[in-house]
Amino acid sequence: MKTAVTVAAMLAFAIVSTIALTTTPKRAAIAASAPVNAQEQTQQGPPDLEDSKYIDVLPNIIKTFTQVDLPQAGASGSATTTTGGNTPPAPGGPVTGTPDGPVTIDQTVLVRGIRVHTSMAANTEALLAAAQAAGLDISGSGWRDPQEQIALRRQNCGTTDYDIYQRPSGECSPPTARPGTSNHERGTAIDFTCGGDTMRAGDACFNWMVANAAKYNYYNLPAESWHWSVNGS
Ligand SMILES: [Zn+2]
Repeated sequence: MKTAVTVAAMLAFAIVSTIALTTTPKRAAIAASAPVNAQEQTQQGPPDLEDSKYIDVLPNIIKTFTQVDLPQAGASGSATTTTGGNTPPAPGGPVTGTPDGPVTIDQTVLVRGIRVHTSMAANTEALLAAAQAAGLDISGSGWRDPQEQIALRRQNCGTTDYDIYQRPSGECSPPTARPGTSNHERGTAIDFTCGGDTMRAGDACFNWMVANAAKYNYYNLPAESWHWSVNGS
């Protein structure tokens, strides 16, 4: 229903604008500020008869268009459900718009010193704030430039082209995703530290993450206690 009224208002505006364009510049100016309410008009001084003629007709035009061309959804009353426009998402709300490939630094943002993709900014901030409130010193390293991923592969997997670009991640020590496929290159993974050291299974930070991280859309890669990402890989 809200949409229908909006559409009607736009149509009415278009009509009044068209009328105004064929008349005087003064009327065009009035129409350009439509919809105009009576209070605004009073503040601008008493309208002359010609001006008020165009203003008075607006509600009728809106009403007319509201009564025609209404989407069927309005009648059923079920398809017009809308979400609250100003309601902020819950900390654990869905993360949308995550990339499916490497991103450049301009698509990332620093969250408490950890660089992540912009789509991960809100949930990461919420996670780190909650961890801090729990008395934990959690930090880490997030987004990684593709060149850094290649350097890591060289370090962890071997120095040949096969080692760097083809060898399965699990054959590297520690496991390291092939260049172009790491969540770090997407800004959707973080290697966490706890009190400045690598987060390890069983430490206070890790235990807190196990209990809470999913609320913030972070999931652990089981082979690496420190590595948490939007999809667990
Ligand atoms: Zn990692």
